[in-house]
Amino acid sequence: MIKFNLICKCGKTFESWFSSSKEYNSLIKRKLVTCIYCNSTSIKKSIMAPNLSSKSNKRLNRDKSTKDVKRQLLKFRKYIEQNCKNVGDNFAKEARNIHYDKKNSKGIYGTATKKETMELQEEGIEVDTIPWIDKSEN
Ligand SMILES: [Zn+2]
Repeated sequence: MIKFNLICKCGKTFESWFSSSKEYNSLIKRKLVTCIYCNSTSIKKSIMAPNLSSKSNKRLNRDKSTKDVKRQLLKFRKYIEQNCKNVGDNFAKEARNIHYDKKNSKGIYGTATKKETMELQEEGIEVDTIPWIDKSEN
């Protein structure tokens, strides 16, 4: 058995099973395939259903997981923005102040160069780098 997606001249699509594509061709030729919506016999084969569905399913899943990761990162960004102080380019300096003075326990966030980040880590200062997701992206 083989399943074809059929499309009618009225624009509707529907599925139908045939024992083979040879049977399908002969039924079409003898105008024995009719549209389930308008009874027309102007039917054409659309895309084969099994291929289409497995491909689009895979694509859907991939989109979903990318979206989940982005959502997690956005959540993380929101959390940081609400709980930490944005120090911008002064990140390395501020991180040292907190580490050595310990008077400010509030977390900070900002930007640092790769070199600055490495220096901080060598000094034993905890630094995490996270992908900063743009809020406008979906
Ligand atoms: Zn039709």
